[in-house]
Amino acid sequence: MRKVRGGGEAGTLTNTTYSSRYFTDEVPEHAIPAGSMPARAAYQLIHDELNLDGNPALNLASFVTTWMEPEAQQLATETLNRNFVDQDEYPQTEEIHHRVVSMMGRLFNAPTDGEPVGTATIGSSEAIMLGLLAHRWSWRKRRGDDSAKPNVVFGADVHTCWEKFARYFDVEQRVIPLTPDRHIVGPEEIKDHIDENTIAVGAILGTTFTGQVDEIAAIDELLRQVKQEKGWDIPIHVDGASGGFIAPFSYPELEWDFRLEQVRSINVSNHKFGLVYPGMGTVVFRDFDVVPEELVFKINYLGGEMANYSLNFSRASNAVLLQYYNFLRLGREGYERIVGNLMANAGELERTLTASGRFELLNDARYLPVVVVRPAGKEGLDVFELSERLRERGWIVPAYTLPPNAESVAVLRMVVKENFSRDMAEMLSEDVERALAKMDGKPSPQAQAAGAKQRRIC
Ligand SMILES: *Cc1c(COP(=O)(O)O)cnc(C)c1O
Repeated sequence: MRKVRGGGEAGTLTNTTYSSRYFTDEVPEHAIPAGSMPARAAYQLIHDELNLDGNPALNLASFVTTWMEPEAQQLATETLNRNFVDQDEYPQTEEIHHRVVSMMGRLFNAPTDGEPVGTATIGSSEAIMLGLLAHRWSWRKRRGDDSAKPNVVFGADVHTCWEKFARYFDVEQRVIPLTPDRHIVGPEEIKDHIDENTIAVGAILGTTFTGQVDEIAAIDELLRQVKQEKGWDIPIHVDGASGGFIAPFSYPELEWDFRLEQVRSINVSNHKFGLVYPGMGTVVFRDFDVVPEELVFKINYLGGEMANYSLNFSRASNAVLLQYYNFLRLGREGYERIVGNLMANAGELERTLTASGRFELLNDARYLPVVVVRPAGKEGLDVFELSERLRERGWIVPAYTLPPNAESVAVLRMVVKENFSRDMAEMLSEDVERALAKMDGKPSPQAQAAGAKQRRIC
């Protein structure tokens, strides 16, 4: 038998993960440690530290997928070591990428007489940058005036990545403010902001703030009219980050996509309601000539000649493969069923929350399974405190104020995802009641019920 050293990791008897010295030493935080440590200890240290994170299953703040089937997990793990950009080395991955983009194009009703193109991206942010960059270049070519300054027009209901594009790529942003009563934009607001230097109008299919939808078909009509009258051919880029996988299944008749003439590009976050883990998005262009050839890089140093239109070079390929997995696994039928469940559970959550009389709906969750409520009537309910109280139970439900000029409206938002069951909707509603009772300084309904039961027993 070997000697056991106190607290050391070499002894046989105390050679468990937690008995090793790494669990009494400080964890390296600033500089790479000089020495190494056993794999088991490194794993356990990081694993344990992450217990301080929120629980993804209770994260109603994010639109991004937090659950996939074990087979998807297995596929993702198996393909972790494939760099997506190595198309020559992994031709079948590239073939699957083409299939995914092609399916997305058809989902968005790309015209059959054109040649739609697209690419997988890290998410909608990259997809929006690529879409708007293409429009900026096309505008410059059309305009033929190097001194003209480009602008992009959208409502204040956009995601920050639109403002990022404007700032990073030096395009004037013309942001249409919201009002306390209207949280989307339509042709009435757009028409005074566009001119011959407008590279594109942004329209949102499901805003981040309220889940509502900009008046896309009416904006298209306005821009067609402007094209006829003034000769300005202003494209629409539709931000379908969250709605792009909902509308085709819940409202197939809603016209928001390539069925509208001025819609030249669409982005979607596959890692939202495409139901795959992050990071996966797609940008699809109506026709290949929407993307100026100068932006497509032909590279030959990976073997073969490949066309590349992206901001990143290397990236993981597994999220692309996961999207293909979901297309095969679920089919349209599966997506329809899941989207139906999401909408039904969002509706149930709305009903229970509003039945308490403490909240009113900011939107009805008609287009997205997103429940957005504000305090009812003149009630001075503090949604920020309620959000904190819910966090004590593990629920992550953000509270925030709307963008300008609707900052006076403070809301709570709950994104209903695939793993949010009816049961969880009920538990959340009960926890909201309990939290409200605490905030009111009253015993919770649950405590009152328990008290009543106790009295009966006595
Ligand atoms: C989430 C979201 C984005 C950003 O998408 P990422 O995939 O996270 O980059 C952009 N626009 C809208 C409307 C969104 O909901």
